Amino acid sequence: MEFSSFNLHPVIAESISQAGYVTPTPIQQQAIPTVMEGRDVMGLAQTGTGKTAAFALPILHRLMNGQRGQLRALVVAPTRELAEQIHESFVTLGKGSRLKSVTVYGGVNVNPQIQALKNGVDIVVACPGRLLDHIGQGTVDLSHLEVLVLDEADQMFDMGFLPDIRKILAKIPAKRQTLLFSATMPPDINKLAQEILKDPATVKVGNTAPPVTVSHALYPVEQHLKTPLLLELLKHTDTESVLIFTRTKHRAKRLGEQLEKAGYKAASLQGNLSQNRRQAALDGFRDGTFQILVATDIAARGIDVSLISHVINYDIPDTPEAYVHRIGRTGRAAKSGDAFTMVCQEDALMVRTIEKKLGASLERRTVTGFDYSIPAPRKDEEFARPPREPRPQRKTPAPKKGQAASINPFKADHPGTKPSGPPRQGRPGTGGAPKATFNSSRRGK
Ligand code: AMP
Repeated sequence: MEFSSFNLHPVIAESISQAGYVTPTPIQQQAIPTVMEGRDVMGLAQTGTGKTAAFALPILHRLMNGQRGQLRALVVAPTRELAEQIHESFVTLGKGSRLKSVTVYGGVNVNPQIQALKNGVDIVVACPGRLLDHIGQGTVDLSHLEVLVLDEADQMFDMGFLPDIRKILAKIPAKRQTLLFSATMPPDINKLAQEILKDPATVKVGNTAPPVTVSHALYPVEQHLKTPLLLELLKHTDTESVLIFTRTKHRAKRLGEQLEKAGYKAASLQGNLSQNRRQAALDGFRDGTFQILVATDIAARGIDVSLISHVINYDIPDTPEAYVHRIGRTGRAAKSGDAFTMVCQEDALMVRTIEKKLGASLERRTVTGFDYSIPAPRKDEEFARPPREPRPQRKTPAPKKGQAASINPFKADHPGTKPSGPPRQGRPGTGGAPKATFNSSRRGK
């Protein structure tokens, strides 16, 4: 299948080929014709599947006809980064269309946003809180809205945005096309979807399955040896850009500092950074100034770095969904990537839950030459785990120290070489979209 079969407006078709997109991804194949028909859509897809273009292309197509300078399409997203990323897609895919997109989110001066909205826009990509501010102040006119997209609805729910979303829904025209995208479908999102979508078509790709191109490995290690092991792994692994996840902001900050001390170009991304510093870290990661970014789940929401070669879970996530979400950041749009997870004995239950979800057992690896026997310092406050919620008693013991080593997987499967496991399916033609600006009004301007 090719993009030409959608019969998109010639201007949009041209920008697709300029962006280097050749073949529509599965979600695009399913969603684009359905959205073009004007139907409501419930999209089950995670980041990395091409879902942004799946809604952006038919929206741009629709907006090519009709009044300009009126807000006709609104996308609501959970984070500033995701909002920027969606906006960039509208800019790239709408190149030459003279349609105008702006972002609206908090943490930055409101006045440029007010001015941009006043000047007339066709598309707004917004985070819920700031959008509500604009609605409250009467600085955004939603009366002409034709299409509403709720992107990463499950994340918005996790972040407590559901009441804000409901307030927004009460302020926009009831007669509209609504598209709701979510990686998972928790009951509250399902309820919301049933309330707001009219006779929706469901499009679904890789609901919880991670991208096929990602190869996973577990590295059993004691808590106090995580940083030395990480340094050893980085030393022996051919990485381009690495996204490392920690469980807390504090751990992200500390680990970022330790990596810097060890000579890596690393930055950490924590929820309480100022918008400027956050943007600087993200931009630095994108342009290669930082090779490593350390982040928590919340802080990492919406990061789109198509070149991420490795995702490393310094701390195992709390749910299998979060695991899939995290590793979805590598292997994006069918590029290959690796995902390493450091696991302690206490993570055994979560490992089993993740393996159950993935329907496969994850390979355990050890690093040859690494001294796993170094005892814990007497006082390991810095990285010691605070007590967790009580968990059910483990039935199966976690792999003991040395047990995994008996496989000596490092020899055969050194992360710097090709690890064993499912074959990677590289896909050509996923080249990065050229950066373009068309009447774009970006944050801070
Ligand atoms: P998304 O899931 O929307 O975050 O997209 C993930 C990445 O895939 C982005 O970098 C897009 O530019 C890229 N992408 C989306 N659709 C295609 C396509 N049909 N062909 C190649 N790359 C694509």
